[in-house]
Amino acid sequence: MASRSGKPLILISSCLLGLATRYDGRSKPSVVIMSELGSRVSWLPVCPEAESGLGTPRPPMRVIRQVDGSVGLVRPADGFDPAPMLLAWIERTLPVLLSRLPDAAILKARSPSCGLETVAVLDARRSGVEFPGDGLFAAALRQAAPELPIFDEDALATPEQCRQFLRQLTEG
Ligand code: SF4
Repeated sequence: MASRSGKPLILISSCLLGLATRYDGRSKPSVVIMSELGSRVSWLPVCPEAESGLGTPRPPMRVIRQVDGSVGLVRPADGFDPAPMLLAWIERTLPVLLSRLPDAAILKARSPSCGLETVAVLDARRSGVEFPGDGLFAAALRQAAPELPIFDEDALATPEQCRQFLRQLTEG
């Protein structure tokens, strides 16, 4: 489903577009994605952490696998659990985002919210690291929209990868 402009509509982590939403108050723009796709698609930017009220800048947080196997979050600096705020926002906002009928999603790698199979997950004792893991938003997006093509930014690191991405979207 194309956007009103007729271009493919791409859900994207806001920081990849240069918006200063990261925990350290900076952005992490992808020059390749912006230059190769910027004028050829319509963007639907989203920052789960900033938009859920965690603030920018904010202390870094980690994904943690609980003793019961469920996945949550922890903020090592003070032990705060940001998961309830983030999950409540996801529950409210994901249906709204998906109602826009995006054609694909591009997510920031290694983020505890947006990371797709690239997140270092702490074990329940917080003593070790497991790989791979999804961020909480990425996991919810996968579950809510199993048919949606979701790309990690690292899969679109070259102009040719971006052109291939676009061909797949426009040629079906
Ligand atoms: S990775 Fe996701 S949560 Fe983190 S700043 Fe970028 S858009 Fe926001």
